[in-house]
Amino acid sequence: MPIIRPLPPELINQIAAGEVIERPASVVKELAENSLDAGAQRIDIEIEQGGMRLIRVRDDGGGIAAEELPLALAAHATSKIASFDDLTRVASMGFRGEALASIASVSRLSLTSRRASDAHGMQIEGGALRPAASPIGTTIEVRDLFHAVPARRKFLRAERTEFGHIDELVRSLALARPGVEFRLIHNGKPVRLLKPAASGGEQLQRAGELLGATFAEHCLRIEHAAAGLSLTGWIGLPTASRAQADQQYFHVNGRLVRDKSVAHAVRQAYADVLYHGRHPAFVLFLELDPTAVDVNVHPAKREVRFRDARLVHDFMYHALHDAVANTRAGAMVPAAYAAGVDPGIAQGERDIVPQAMSRQFGLGVREAAGDPYAALLGEQGARAAPVRLPDDVEAGAPPPLGYALAQLAGIYILAENSQGLVLVDMHAAHERVTYEKLKAARDANQVRSQHLLVPEVIAVSEREAAAAEEYATTLAAYGLELDRSGPRQVTARRIPALLDGADASQLARDVLAELAEHGNSRRLEELQNELLSTMACHGSVRAHRRLTLPEMNALLREMEATERSGQCNHGRPTWTQLSIGELDKLFLRGR
Ligand code: ADP
Ligand code: MG
Repeated sequence: MPIIRPLPPELINQIAAGEVIERPASVVKELAENSLDAGAQRIDIEIEQGGMRLIRVRDDGGGIAAEELPLALAAHATSKIASFDDLTRVASMGFRGEALASIASVSRLSLTSRRASDAHGMQIEGGALRPAASPIGTTIEVRDLFHAVPARRKFLRAERTEFGHIDELVRSLALARPGVEFRLIHNGKPVRLLKPAASGGEQLQRAGELLGATFAEHCLRIEHAAAGLSLTGWIGLPTASRAQADQQYFHVNGRLVRDKSVAHAVRQAYADVLYHGRHPAFVLFLELDPTAVDVNVHPAKREVRFRDARLVHDFMYHALHDAVANTRAGAMVPAAYAAGVDPGIAQGERDIVPQAMSRQFGLGVREAAGDPYAALLGEQGARAAPVRLPDDVEAGAPPPLGYALAQLAGIYILAENSQGLVLVDMHAAHERVTYEKLKAARDANQVRSQHLLVPEVIAVSEREAAAAEEYATTLAAYGLELDRSGPRQVTARRIPALLDGADASQLARDVLAELAEHGNSRRLEELQNELLSTMACHGSVRAHRRLTLPEMNALLREMEATERSGQCNHGRPTWTQLSIGELDKLFLRGR
């Protein structure tokens, strides 16, 4: 017969430690979070041998009363909640009252603390209390972690790896709490010194220190509030996406968490401007009423549960989607992407260029029929302003992307604006503009189509012909009329007016190939924007087409007016700015 008996307290604590204290970095997390809960303005973290020998965390927080020191180390003893009601509105990092007891059960722990009102500090170690010299605040030393738990010790990696985890943890805490100073020392050497950041600019600078200059220079500020939710922070521009989802910091009431539905909202918001497999970088802070989120769902508190997950998802999606939509070319200074250009330009120079929308500037109407570009110009021409070239424009702020100077290698438009030189990838830019127009027209159910003078008979595969039949209504909504006219044949009768001049049979083949291949396996909605993107590609000005200056200026104006035009459908930039400062650097010219 098995004998049931209560576990001794030490063993209970060791079991709890098994859940939460995985490695030295977990200890640092628990201790630093306690410091934050104690209102610390400065947290010093000293590490020896990757934390396996020593972890010392000192803070300048409120401290602990001498008589409560033994309780701080007791299991299930906490100052942070007292009732179930409190548990439903946790605003602190901790609330389980387990961390110190667990850590103490797998290491040699000493706790020294002194409140502002105390004459001196007190220390507790191995159950013994004694007076000790101490600054105001709390110091916890953890030595020989896992010394008595060989199974855990065995799983620890090299000193450098363990310290790497600690460093990553400290960086994430510093991101989460920009107002707190952090110092990190390893084996006596200072590794990080993060000064408190007060203003938004300083916070962004700190984010840059922690995530790299690329992020700080290629991100958008997010500030959004609605329905009791508030979202602030920065999201990376699509053009600064990453191969890994390694720079995604999402905080809920100051706590770094992972959340599937939020990750989904982010992916959706970027869906249109990123390649599959690319990941945006972001540092976001969601603040909401603590009663609207349950933090008691994960032992290490890496996850939370929202009471209204749908609301949070949609709120996040809209905030980010709107920000991404605003990545109009010229609405901000984009990536200094051009090879060899040092992106380290002074912040001031990158500030938002005033959004002088410039539809008033004239557009040349190109007569050339059968040229995809004519559609773009034709539409503009219909809005008809007289042609005015840069020379006869009255004094006033030039448009953000400036005026075209020349075409380079049949690929790039070279323009001049108030910052210096602008370079535009004309195919990528035109494709994006066409894509956004098609999308807007589709969403408004207003894709205008036009009859082909001579219907085109196109040979396709049987599956493609079947797709033309099956998806006829969808295709019609896109302005495409493709009739199945044989087992392996369709006839194109209408194409979208926006794509006037495109090669109808090539367009039909590509669209049908896509439908035949993915139509069954994926939801049509998901496929729709890809269809548009395929279509946009056909409608776009091809490389090596000579453009006149008015045509180039027309494209620049279109870009300024088009949402998300700062990058192509795959997240590559459509344009870049070479500021006068950068040009000066190229020529070693000081000013
Ligand atoms: P929890 O954080 O869940 O309350 P812990 O075991 O981490 O549990 O800490 C137990 C208690 O010890 C805390 O509730 C707090 O009152 C006190 N404490 C721990 N660390 C500090 C600190 N750095 N400064 C002030 N009080 C602390
Ligand atoms: Mg704690």
